Amino acid sequence: MTDAKDILLHICCAPDASVPVPDLMAEGWRVRGYFYGSNIHPLDEYARRLDALNTLVGHAGIECEVAEYDPGEWLERVAGLEDEPEGGRRCERCFALQLEAGARLAKMLGIENFCTTLTISPHKNVKLINELGEKFSRSSGIVWQNRIWRKNNGFLRSVRASRELGLYRQNYCGCVYSIRNEE
Ligand code: SF4
Repeated sequence: MTDAKDILLHICCAPDASVPVPDLMAEGWRVRGYFYGSNIHPLDEYARRLDALNTLVGHAGIECEVAEYDPGEWLERVAGLEDEPEGGRRCERCFALQLEAGARLAKMLGIENFCTTLTISPHKNVKLINELGEKFSRSSGIVWQNRIWRKNNGFLRSVRASRELGLYRQNYCGCVYSIRNEE
């Protein structure tokens, strides 16, 4: 059984985790990562992001759970929301999927605290993300650690940290529908 200072950190991508991981460690947490990844398209992009994740967790010296890559399941779960704009209902479903899976995993691993890197993005709805994290943590019987990583120049710090670690930094959020926003 782990003690109360263990935390499972949902990692959406390595660059976004480059600030939350060291900051949580500096707060005294024993951090374990969780990477979902099935929202990422195509496969070679997934592989690039996984490679960056391995660099980051290797550098930080933490363990990281990687979910099975199952884009079919992700596509099924967001079916009907293909035309939603970025930041709309498809993204809410995507966050919910990842945070629900993470909260369940934390419970299964005996880790009492849960958090996400998603709130480092200047483009994402941090209120919604923290509300979903809170909801799924409560239903799994664990504690949500509410953080807004983009505060205090968090995003800029992550750009710098990623550069120092040589991490691949993508130019779209991840799913096939977010690619068109970059065209
Ligand atoms: S744009 Fe990003 S958050 Fe929204 S559905 Fe696609 S991968 Fe998920």
